Amino acid sequence: MIGAIEAGGTKFICALAEAGGTVIERTRIATHAPEATFAEVAAYFRAAAARHGPIAAFGIGSFGPLDIDPASPRYGCFTTTPKPGWSGASWLAALAEFAVPIRVDSDVSAAALAEAGQAPGCRTLAYTTVGTGIGTGIVQDGASLRGFSHFESGHFYPARRAGDDDFAGSCPYHGDCLEGLASGPAIIARWGRSLDQLDDDPGAVETVARYIAHLAASLVLLHMPDRLIFGGGVMHARGLLEELRAQTEALLAGYIVHPRLDPGLVDYIAAPVLGDDAGLSGAILLARKALAAAG
Ligand code: ZN
Repeated sequence: MIGAIEAGGTKFICALAEAGGTVIERTRIATHAPEATFAEVAAYFRAAAARHGPIAAFGIGSFGPLDIDPASPRYGCFTTTPKPGWSGASWLAALAEFAVPIRVDSDVSAAALAEAGQAPGCRTLAYTTVGTGIGTGIVQDGASLRGFSHFESGHFYPARRAGDDDFAGSCPYHGDCLEGLASGPAIIARWGRSLDQLDDDPGAVETVARYIAHLAASLVLLHMPDRLIFGGGVMHARGLLEELRAQTEALLAGYIVHPRLDPGLVDYIAAPVLGDDAGLSGAILLARKALAAAG
């Protein structure tokens, strides 16, 4: 058996799967303070292992920021997360009682791994979530790209739209970085409603799409991915994906010419094939990698 966890800021999805990846059972745990949440996670896996057999490895796709360097003494620890109480919390400590290999990566890198597995012919794939936060995982040839840590695409500063300067942005670190302008909490801070409830304000979808398009265009320019996937709660808003394609194409302005960039970017910019299961599927892949590495 393997254990997989998709850890988000509001809920954790925990699953017990066969080593081949088939999910046997899963549960949902609300994200509270780390001690209580981790205790609930460990109790769930203890009980699941008692029902189905011992767990041989864990894979975790988690919100962050996180230390994801296996050589670091703080591997698997939360770092500068704005989520109260979570800085310093450790995944390895939380699951130490199982004494098995654990692989931790960012939630978006896990989702990117899973989506890349569903996109034959795509060597490089970028998965971006636009939800409570904004982040991008990039997978190349089956492995997630990283530097000294995972990327933080949500915190670059997109150019402000002409005339859009009466909202200061909601990021506690940067104000009007992308996350401060286009994440779910930023949209509620600005308009008082979520984007899917702003049907009567087409300018809202257009504005949010414009800022996300700056990220999409930057991903093309920096990484030349074979496909861009955009998931997360905000992306469920009607018309947003279509507007994102149009705005990205406009920002690229015909500079990149390649068969991958189809007219209108209809194939190029896509919703996740796995839908909301991308993160958990990625965590399962991480557990399988941990198991394979342990021999
Ligand atoms: Zn920021």
